[in-house]
Amino acid sequence: MTPLPPGATIGILGGGQLGRMSTLAAARLGYRCHVFAPEPDGPGMQVAAAHTVAPYEDAQALARFAAAVDVVTFEFENVPAATLAALQPLAPCRPGVEVLRICQDRLAEKAFLEAADVPVAAWGGIESEEGLRAALAAIGLPAVLKTSRLGYDGRGQAMVRTEAEALAAFARLAPKPLILEAFIPFVAELSAIVARGEDGATAVYDAVENRHRNHILDLSFAPARVPAEVAARARAHAVAVAEALNLVGVLALELFLLPDGRLLGNEIAPRPHNSGHWTMDACIASQFEQHVRAVTGLPLASPDRDHDAVMKNLVGPEGMALWPRLLATPGVAPHLYGKAEARPGRKLGHANFLFPKDSLAGIPETALLSGL
Ligand code: AMP
Repeated sequence: MTPLPPGATIGILGGGQLGRMSTLAAARLGYRCHVFAPEPDGPGMQVAAAHTVAPYEDAQALARFAAAVDVVTFEFENVPAATLAALQPLAPCRPGVEVLRICQDRLAEKAFLEAADVPVAAWGGIESEEGLRAALAAIGLPAVLKTSRLGYDGRGQAMVRTEAEALAAFARLAPKPLILEAFIPFVAELSAIVARGEDGATAVYDAVENRHRNHILDLSFAPARVPAEVAARARAHAVAVAEALNLVGVLALELFLLPDGRLLGNEIAPRPHNSGHWTMDACIASQFEQHVRAVTGLPLASPDRDHDAVMKNLVGPEGMALWPRLLATPGVAPHLYGKAEARPGRKLGHANFLFPKDSLAGIPETALLSGL
């Protein structure tokens, strides 16, 4: 495809921080962005050249949006698939609706990972109490019961240790169907981020190690402090998934690392991902720039890492309390998303702590985190 010329407009579905940071990266490459979201004044709209505030189901607004942009992308995967399906005949959509459909549904996603030869935890789709009992017999306890759609940051899931707990969680969790997964006693959570262009070229970043707090990403360590072979396997899995999806854009593959070195795929996010924010300051080209390059048909940039980094998420009032100190700390690159309210559990910004390349594994964690 001919690359979009400078001055062209990228349409972004979703008004959050991932769209904001993509918009900033797009501006640096000479593109404009038009953000479409139901909520006014979100992080993305604040920095976009144009915006539409309308429900995702508003066919007229979608048609006007399609006419005003040169390509459509999305910044979170809970945009209704019907929205992208309605846009697809009107404008190029990258990634396309098929990618969105797979990644919106944990059942489709698990089946897809298996088909792409990425090992996953034992799982089963659950529609009824009888189905739940049968899956518990096959998978065992403890296990994790999740909604198959619309879950994020730990919402819509429950760890279950007994059949009684599983039945109670089944009654509570909605919408159905659910997915039951074996509980994985992981030693670390990893992710790998890959960009893929329409020509099939890929650029994959170093795998990172993620630490969660209250089910929300708290820290990413880049690169992951794991054997090189494990990191290479994580990256290879991400590339395999991007190729199997025929992705044009960026995706993150989240993985569990088992004590014996096996990796199990957990989730695919077909967009820039929180665990890739370190690339904004530790690499010459961030995941957001790669996303913009992929969807506009530019050649991908090098994913090489210039620094090691620890990314700290600023979540809720507690995270914001760190802000003045982060601003005053050398070697820290702080980012804020422009959200009006610092509600608990809300991702308000992040900070990248930079270290010399290949030094992270040799620094004790207390020293890495001493600025926090
Ligand atoms: P998810 O929404 O699937 O990314 O899950 C959120 C978090 O819950 C993960 O990052 C893990 O920390 C934990 N988790 C999810 N599924 C499992 C599982 N099958 N076994 C152990 N922990 C899990």
